[in-house]
Amino acid sequence: MTIQNALREGHNLLFYAEVDTPVLDATVLLGEALDISKERIFASLPEVIDGESYQRYRDMLDRRCSGIPVSYIRNKKEFFGLEFYVDERVLVPRPDTETLVEALLGFIDKNPGPLKIHDTCTGSGCVAISVKLKNPGLDISASDISREAGKVFAINSYVLLGYQLPCYRSDLLQQVPGSFDLISANPPYLLESEVDNLSKIGWPEPELALRGGIDGTALAERLITDSAFRLKAGGAIFLEGAAGQMEWLKAYLLARGYSEIEVFKDLGGRDRVISARWRRCA
Ligand code: GLN
Repeated sequence: MTIQNALREGHNLLFYAEVDTPVLDATVLLGEALDISKERIFASLPEVIDGESYQRYRDMLDRRCSGIPVSYIRNKKEFFGLEFYVDERVLVPRPDTETLVEALLGFIDKNPGPLKIHDTCTGSGCVAISVKLKNPGLDISASDISREAGKVFAINSYVLLGYQLPCYRSDLLQQVPGSFDLISANPPYLLESEVDNLSKIGWPEPELALRGGIDGTALAERLITDSAFRLKAGGAIFLEGAAGQMEWLKAYLLARGYSEIEVFKDLGGRDRVISARWRRCA
């Protein structure tokens, strides 16, 4: 069988399994099976695929047809130009979350000095590790309530940084010591009903990373409340959320005594990140 035919076969299988992006997914999985880039695949269409790679490819296609995301099949996801290890223990990093990283980097640029930063609900660690790589001198720690997520974080910290960034097992900030200049989180923020619908179709991402209460803002609200006791004067909180939650989060932040609210848009032009300062000194 040629690479071209393998690609065609993969596309057909995924198309009939109602996968949203059958051509892209077949190409990425074939590249993974052959251990070559997407570009090399298109340059190698007439070549014959060896039996072992073909079998690997078919196994991956079967898993994709059963609803497993490509990132879990490949155990990797590109995020902020880096390759993170991922599996079913963590949420797959989304491009939307790069908005959170950019916003944090913007704050760091404008506030030079020895900032102490904490990223909670860290999951794979994509936010904390991306920020640390850009600012190796800053004191950055992370936390997650899931012990299993902590293990994935450790893999990414070791592979991408070469050492272990401190990561606490903690319900938001409860088990995290100290106070901070910057607290960030991509907390679970899907609505109860959205998560219930995902569960019905057997969505493989951890519910713990998605379930944000009835209107999706339960964890964000708790973190806003708790951060008021853990941010230094002039410190800031940065939260990812859904566009429809931003007005409410803004009101909530103001009611809790925060100021200088800013909202950042994702690549699709939707409000995705909100930030606020805590008792800025004059
Ligand atoms: N952005 C994710 C999604 O739409 C949700 C991430 C989260 O709840 N933190 O699936």
